[in-house]
Amino acid sequence: MVPVIALVGRPNVGKSTLFNRLTKSRDALVANFPGLTRDRQYGEATLGDRRFMLIDTGGVNGDEEGIDEAMAQQSMQAIDEADAVVLMLDARAGLMPADQGLIHHLRSCSKPVFIVANKIDGADPNVAMAEFYQTGAANIYPLTASHGKGVRKLVEDVLELF
Ligand code: GDP
Ligand code: MG
Repeated sequence: MVPVIALVGRPNVGKSTLFNRLTKSRDALVANFPGLTRDRQYGEATLGDRRFMLIDTGGVNGDEEGIDEAMAQQSMQAIDEADAVVLMLDARAGLMPADQGLIHHLRSCSKPVFIVANKIDGADPNVAMAEFYQTGAANIYPLTASHGKGVRKLVEDVLELF
């Protein structure tokens, strides 16, 4: 089985940075993947000898009106197609209402959800993590997607479920 992992989160949290890092040595677009739309990008990645698919939800522009609904809609479609979900939060920005909306959505989702605190390099890690843990999350992965720090641990833990 090739697990499918959806990357969801507000615009600008670093989803595409992580997507590109994990898929860069492979064909980034898988055109014949079912349900392909321009709102979601599909890529193939490997970790060691494990293959997996990533879905990046990228079509929403941060200035768009109705951004929260559009983001939730895209995220829900990606989650439907995925075996596991990575919700990305921005440790520099802290917890935003749109994050809480997504967390709320994901609570009713039957798939495994991994919460990530990205951009931990630009934040006080203790403050950022404490704020994110107030959402009731059991485990949060500190990440620096732009440098790859924490990426292996995250992906290993996701893949371990499959
Ligand atoms: P997306 O909208 O969620 O896909 O976010 P992007 O991947 O486009 O990243 C948004 C911005 O955050 C870009 O300028 C990235 O270079 C930056 N970024 C991504 N990951 C990190 C990180 O770990 N640390 C820092 N400091 N910046 C990051
Ligand atoms: Mg993006």
